[in-house]
Amino acid sequence: MKMSKISKEKRTAIDWISASEKKISDFHQLIWNYAETAWREYKSAKAYCDLLRQEGFEVVEGTGGMPTAFLATWGEDRPVLGTYAEYDAVPGNSQKAVPYRAPRDGLHPWAPGHTDPHSGLGVAALAGVLAAKEAMIKHNLKGTLKLFGEPAEKVCGSKPVHAAKGYYDGFDAFISYHPGYSKRQNTVLWDTQCGSYWSVAFTFECMDPEKWVGEELLAYPGHPHAAARCPAAIDAVCMMYTVTKYTKEAMLPHTGLWSLNEFIMIAGQCTSDNEPPRISQIQYCWRSPTLPMQQQICQVLENNAKHVAEVTKCRLSTRWITKTRVGLTNHAIAEITYKNLELVGPPKYGEEAKKVGRQIQKNLSLEPMEEPFTEACQTLKPPKRTEAEIRKGLPSWQLNFTSDDYVEYTWHAPTVRLYTSMAELKPVPGFAYPAWTWNAMSGIRSTVDPMIFTAGKTIGATLVDLLTQPEKLKKVKTEFNERTGGGIGGSKWVAPLLPSNFKPPVDLRWPEYVTTVRGEEWWIPTPME
Ligand SMILES: [Zn+2]
Repeated sequence: MKMSKISKEKRTAIDWISASEKKISDFHQLIWNYAETAWREYKSAKAYCDLLRQEGFEVVEGTGGMPTAFLATWGEDRPVLGTYAEYDAVPGNSQKAVPYRAPRDGLHPWAPGHTDPHSGLGVAALAGVLAAKEAMIKHNLKGTLKLFGEPAEKVCGSKPVHAAKGYYDGFDAFISYHPGYSKRQNTVLWDTQCGSYWSVAFTFECMDPEKWVGEELLAYPGHPHAAARCPAAIDAVCMMYTVTKYTKEAMLPHTGLWSLNEFIMIAGQCTSDNEPPRISQIQYCWRSPTLPMQQQICQVLENNAKHVAEVTKCRLSTRWITKTRVGLTNHAIAEITYKNLELVGPPKYGEEAKKVGRQIQKNLSLEPMEEPFTEACQTLKPPKRTEAEIRKGLPSWQLNFTSDDYVEYTWHAPTVRLYTSMAELKPVPGFAYPAWTWNAMSGIRSTVDPMIFTAGKTIGATLVDLLTQPEKLKKVKTEFNERTGGGIGGSKWVAPLLPSNFKPPVDLRWPEYVTTVRGEEWWIPTPME
């Protein structure tokens, strides 16, 4: 790093991260080990709120009616700059921070773990904000820093809610960060931002099973197990699943890389075979690059659900879970951020990390490599090259790709999308590394910490730029106004898709840790030895 070329304010921010590596790494370990899933990140959110209060932030918990969301504010006056932490893990990815396959002890083998990892995402954003705060104190800079706590990213949960309820209004710029993956490593997005994600839960309830078959047709009235029975709620959910698989083929042309997936949240309630299952619930989520495509998928699903309910004599209710827009880019803020990433330099994975990489390869019966990591995870990729690589697999009409609810920020102030990479194992022809290898490395300090420090320094430096260089901020905001046709409410602006009185779906049956007389465990009870 050419320290002579950088401002004293930026140097303070970057130096603060270098001096705080132990503290940042320890906090990441805490969040990684909690491994809490969407809408159920109680310990993780509390850890952030406690730390931010100690750091002098004003913290509001439970923002937008979401118990594991928060907003932390420091400073005063303009500019008002925002970023956010995520901290949700993913069911089925339990793994210890070791170089061999080992789900965490004392829990069901398919308990959750951090994958992307959102643990690193959140801690990097936190580090960036604390670094900028240090520069503001030392150099007496004016402005306001806001760090949102954003739960349930894996279901694109909180950001459309925050947006709809006005939390993103009045900002000058946002920084969105995600750990690197696929073609997005150590870079910023240029044109192709993420697409849209909608999700809905259909509930089928069997209200009047006694009306299904006439009493006169029953050989043994009053003997439920000896009677023909109302098809009821499990049949409804199975039919919904099946008919949607059939109609999926006809929803949209096979282009644009759209997808539709489901999760059966409730399917009867077991233990009584002779009663009609009274309730079932299936959640659908679908991703596509345009809002009209999203609407087409939605219409087919709603039509299917209505007819399935009629066939099975169930009552249907529909609950929206989320509805995001597509991302809006901003080149000016992307350029500022990438310059700072160049200044900081790519993450470096040293001998300790390489040892981990080689151990993993050895444990998979591969020949350990002298350099076990890809070049891509340790070098920078200019935004236009990233763009060209992303575009390779896309039709020319497709302007957005994949989903992430950060896109909600992009319509309320100029936003950059930054990526830095953790250690990534070098490919072996004809072999695919199993998911546990990535999950393990996301919790091993030597293979994940450089990703966090690099991102933290880049975020901190970019916040400092936006605080100290009003002409740069002005350029960024001018571009936002052009792209939205006049800013918020402008001719090309898209408003939040959820209503402002939206009730967040935190009361649905999301997988979670539970405490019973057996102690704390994953919702699927831990098998006995
Ligand atoms: Zn993610």
